[in-house]
Amino acid sequence: MGKLIVIEGLDGCGKSTQTELLPQSLKQKAGIDTLRIKLPDYDDPSSTLVKMYLAGEFSQNADGLSPYAASSFYAVDRVASYLRKWKDAYLSGGTVIADRYTTSNAIYQLGKLERTEWDGFLSWLWDYEYNKLGLPKPDAVVFLDVPPEDRKKLLSKRYNGDENKKDIHERDDAFMLRCREAAAYTAQKCGWKTVTCTKDGAMRSIEDIQEELSNAVIDMLK
Ligand code: ADP
Repeated sequence: MGKLIVIEGLDGCGKSTQTELLPQSLKQKAGIDTLRIKLPDYDDPSSTLVKMYLAGEFSQNADGLSPYAASSFYAVDRVASYLRKWKDAYLSGGTVIADRYTTSNAIYQLGKLERTEWDGFLSWLWDYEYNKLGLPKPDAVVFLDVPPEDRKKLLSKRYNGDENKKDIHERDDAFMLRCREAAAYTAQKCGWKTVTCTKDGAMRSIEDIQEELSNAVIDMLK
């Protein structure tokens, strides 16, 4: 069995930027070869239901679809990705870096529920994804935390200021705030490492964040 490293965070926090750099850092610092995957697998038909959900085809706002239904859409896309694209590498001892994973369901779907329901949802989620669907459990989860205002600026940068490109999660500020709370709660409960990506009110440099992230991953894999 291999190792699975997950990089998490809200949309626009820098996950793609950091996961693209991570293979080289891990190779240089610790001699680790990696395979990088990105979920949802938007280039594959397995993500169709996720795309329909984010485009608002089931409900115009995220809260309109049950967190259990939405979680299932993302979970089956992961199963399709795992079985066809990285199961063999993982089972034969490879190290996989995932840009988002099961952990994104905790971040995005937990916030739809009352606080009293959070622990029950997390128990259901882990049992469903790992025990029932057979997905591997991560060995290390790192959450890239960026305060809402800075994250919105990064997201606008990615979309070149075109607000219409935002999906039903991204354009709902109140929902995103609840997601950040849900992430903080789950990070503490499940032992995720949080990397704070801002300093003195500004984004840290990409290289500075990468340094902390790669050191944290190497530490967590020991
Ligand atoms: P995500 O994958 O989490 O949605 P991205 O990696 O696509 O986020 O980053 C969103 C935008 O912010 C991109 O335009 C990226 O170039 C930029 N960006 C990422 N990290 C930083 C940083 N530390 N400082 C400044 N800009 C950044």
